Amino acid sequence: MQILQVCAEIFPLLKTGGLADVAGALPPALQALGGDVRVLLPGFAPILDDLQDAVEMPHLTPPSAMAGAQPRLLRGHLPACGVEAYVIDAPHYYLRTGGPYADADHHPYPDNPQRFGLLGWTAAELAQGLDPAWQPQVVHAHDWHAALAPAYLRAAAQGQGKPVAGSVYTVHNLAYQGLFNAHHFAGLGLPAHFFAMHGMEFHGQLNFMKAGLYFADRITTVSPSYAGEIQAPEQGCGLDGVLRERTGQLSGILNGVDDAVWNPATDRLISAHYQAGRLAGKARCKLALQQELGLAADARAPLFCVVSRLTEQKGLHLVLHALPALLARGAQFALLGSGDAGLEAAFKAAAGASPDSVAVRIGYDEAFAHHLIAGSDVILVPSRFEPCGLTQLYGLKYGTLPLVRKVGGLADTVKDCQLETIDSDATGFVFDAFSVEGLLGAVDRAHALYRRPADWKIVQQRAMRQAFDWHTAAAHYLALYRQVAP
Ligand code: ADP
Repeated sequence: MQILQVCAEIFPLLKTGGLADVAGALPPALQALGGDVRVLLPGFAPILDDLQDAVEMPHLTPPSAMAGAQPRLLRGHLPACGVEAYVIDAPHYYLRTGGPYADADHHPYPDNPQRFGLLGWTAAELAQGLDPAWQPQVVHAHDWHAALAPAYLRAAAQGQGKPVAGSVYTVHNLAYQGLFNAHHFAGLGLPAHFFAMHGMEFHGQLNFMKAGLYFADRITTVSPSYAGEIQAPEQGCGLDGVLRERTGQLSGILNGVDDAVWNPATDRLISAHYQAGRLAGKARCKLALQQELGLAADARAPLFCVVSRLTEQKGLHLVLHALPALLARGAQFALLGSGDAGLEAAFKAAAGASPDSVAVRIGYDEAFAHHLIAGSDVILVPSRFEPCGLTQLYGLKYGTLPLVRKVGGLADTVKDCQLETIDSDATGFVFDAFSVEGLLGAVDRAHALYRRPADWKIVQQRAMRQAFDWHTAAAHYLALYRQVAP
């Protein structure tokens, strides 16, 4: 089956969050199951730089709003990702100083509707035979950046009187919707009646996410719990009604962990290798981390870590408020993250006040994320909401017990450890109430278990043997693709 993945970022070339990890890992996993997979990406600099053996596809003539970009479509190979790719070469749109979605001051680019409209439009062109050598039967679009693909496919199907390709749309985070002024709809070349409540209009605005939710044949999100949560007002971000209407076509498929990138037995970024049956290397990773961070080199102090975007979603102000109590119990704390300026400053101040026991690094650093996760004892993910979450999965795999809030994918992947239940299925620490007290309750359970090293090891080894793998996820996606392929 020919499958086109459409997304704005891909690991290891361009990553702002978990979306890139998924975009990088899903194609090889589908290929291993016999899928004929290609990806379609905007021509951001790191992607163009990696593209090998590029050939130009037939001339693109996009709708009026996007014509000024004068895009060329290239087909080639991305060695860093091990996948065949179509890349939209439109320097005017994609080669900018700043990030992929916003400038250096975090202001979204004003022409984002056109920049990402072009991505969805091009996907539909490929589905209609733009490349005579390869035509997808299924187009799988990820997040709002690619969400117009299902709309263009529906328009093409209506024009031709028959489906052109099946469509699957995956929500990686419902909070980022691609919401724009209505006037941007006009030049996108979509049928006028698509801009309606039963379509991509949202309280008078243009909503890319809603286009994906409304027009795709199937909708998925990245965990079963989140699939349920987003159908209710609290987490529906205003789109819960649309999602409830489509409940029969909506499902949750958990993300996996890319074993080639995150595996303590082979990880080239960490100080020592280890696995469930041989844990000595983990102690060496912890010591190396304490030394790297200038923390007291104390093997007995439980080391808690965070690797995260610093946003409201991630619940890190709870950690900030719980930090004095955490330290009073003899723990150490290390954080890697960037985002909210207030949180950055507050965590830096905490590190300045207790340099022996708190270390904070602001920024984005892939290698250091591996050091932290391998060298810590506990990874904290106290999110307010969490579609899937990847760092708790990395924690499980590295024997770094996740301490998580019971929400979304966190609830689906971590089983709580009460001291009475360590013999059953416990793999970490789970709290429910989104409060400092709730978090500290779980911290206390972590401390209690940590003081019983034999029991800690039982839970740690069980955590490391959990299999959240891409093979399983890819098999679920393939089953969906078979349902929608014309
Ligand atoms: P989200 O996509 O909401 O940011 P996820 O847990 O799904 O959260 O994915 C986050 C990904 O980004 C993980 O791979 C994590 O290791 C990585 N990450 C987050 N912040 C940083 C950082 N400051 N440096 C390096 N990697 C980071």
